Amino acid sequence: MANPHPTPSQISILFILSYLICIISGQPVSLDLGNRLRNDSNAIKLASNDYGNIFHEIPAGVLYPSSISDIMELIKSSYNCSIPFTIAARGNGHSVRGQAMARGGVVVDMSALSKNGSGIRVSGDSSSGFYADVGGEEMWIDVLRATMEKGFSPVSWTDYLYLTVGGTLSNAGISGQAFLHGPQINNVLELDVITGKGEFMTCSRDKNSELFFAILGGLGQFGIITRARIVLDKAPTRVKWVRLLYSDFSMFSRDQERLISGNAPNFVEGFIVTNENVTNEWRSFFSSPSNQSDIVSLFKKQGLLYAIELVKYYDNRTVKTIDKEFQTLLKELNFIPRFIFSTDVPIMDFLGRVSNSDSPDGQLDAHPWLNLFIPKSRITDFNAGVLAEMLPRLNETSSLFIFYPLNKNKWDDRMSAVTPDEDIFYTLALLHSSPSNGSQIIDNFNNQILRFCEKAGIKVRQYLPYYKSKAHWTKHYGSKWNRIQHRKSLFDPKFILSPGQRIFNSA
Ligand SMILES: Cc1cc2nc3c(=O)[nH]c(=O)nc-3n(C[C@H](O)[C@H](O)[C@H](O)COP(=O)(O)OP(=O)(O)OC[C@H]3O[C@@H](n4cnc5c(N)ncnc54)[C@H](O)[C@@H]3O)c2cc1C
Repeated sequence: MANPHPTPSQISILFILSYLICIISGQPVSLDLGNRLRNDSNAIKLASNDYGNIFHEIPAGVLYPSSISDIMELIKSSYNCSIPFTIAARGNGHSVRGQAMARGGVVVDMSALSKNGSGIRVSGDSSSGFYADVGGEEMWIDVLRATMEKGFSPVSWTDYLYLTVGGTLSNAGISGQAFLHGPQINNVLELDVITGKGEFMTCSRDKNSELFFAILGGLGQFGIITRARIVLDKAPTRVKWVRLLYSDFSMFSRDQERLISGNAPNFVEGFIVTNENVTNEWRSFFSSPSNQSDIVSLFKKQGLLYAIELVKYYDNRTVKTIDKEFQTLLKELNFIPRFIFSTDVPIMDFLGRVSNSDSPDGQLDAHPWLNLFIPKSRITDFNAGVLAEMLPRLNETSSLFIFYPLNKNKWDDRMSAVTPDEDIFYTLALLHSSPSNGSQIIDNFNNQILRFCEKAGIKVRQYLPYYKSKAHWTKHYGSKWNRIQHRKSLFDPKFILSPGQRIFNSA
């Protein structure tokens, strides 16, 4: 039987919140959230760290909602105070700079909703299309499993699937399918949202559209996503998957751009190879006619290699033609002929290729990542100054550098996400790993890259952005800034939500 009396920790969290609220505003606020609101050390420890392991903001409490109403009640109680407390939804805490934290406020652990949230339901028909209604707290790996059981799958993914639907839709959600289908935010039909006023609203392109476009790519600033309706397609069964090596940047980028301009492949990405371990690891997964010693000597000669990762899906209907189609695709490309790694795997193995990194060991490292969007018109300069000149100097062996182009026409500019103003732009993900006390060295390096771009006039935009001041945010949003401010005034006028992004809560 549930204990009707609050435990000491509950008393203290309620006390802290009441204190914050009553002393400042002079009005009593009753929060009837029972033992779902906690401030014990386990709850606080989890909510004050993230995958980055660099920032640690201590909240006053953590809400483990048993229903959507709990979140509404929490937000309303803050909204109704003259000086509200901040609230951050925490998906799977895979931000790297404290974006899901709330210093002195309340973190909402969305995973607690998985028992009583919206779940994952597949619906639709062949004439109007199929879709999945998915709780904002659900992880993409579970969306994959549940939809595949019914023979369907979302069309746009992230590389890593242990991220929540609400977390990636608050950014964009990109991977090698985005050139074709757009980012994940482009493949959403409808959302249920709790705004910063504590109101529950359903929105889509046609209904409450300003909220819909605000939320997608909105960095958690305008509401908490409790359900998303995601576009589905018939699931393929297997994939042909290759990694191709290049030593010449212009051939590499020309091939990448050619691949994303047609509809032939289903997935296009790329890597910057700054040490020979990278390709050595591929050999355990891919069959390869290449001899590792040839790769090592090529790498030693060049000091830097580029790789394209290319995938084509197939199923029973296309099994007879896939090899021929794939060979035709490869024939158009100018990779170094002997340096091709190939494999053929079930679609689940491909989409789930990046294993869960939430191991206790992983938590010891810091991840001072930098993610950039770079306009195509300056990509040669960017290669010369950053990829070829700076990256090899880093001498990191446990980091991964992903680099591939995207089509701007697959992004909807009404959404809050920000991209460069060119038809094609590249994404560079510098997925650094450092000892927990070594992140500053990497951050200095990241800042050198940003300074180089600034000096050379290369108008890069940060993806999963991190800025310290409002002036930087204003610059980041550029012509969208007024709209972002207007959206904030409509949906979270008291600056309650996701303070860890430091957009409206920074100096
Ligand atoms: C190992 C790893 C691999 C990654 N791979 C990719 C990739 O391939 N492609 C890609 O695009 N990104 C990738 N990312 C980045 C990832 O998409 C973002 O960090 C995302 O925010 C993480 O999701 P999360 O569920 O952990 O969100 P959190 O980190 O918990 O939250 C992120 C932000 O969203 C807000 N938020 C969380 N849930 C909700 C909600 N339901 N409603 C509204 N706001 C909410 C939070 O308050 C916070 O501001 C990767 C990150 C990691 C660590």
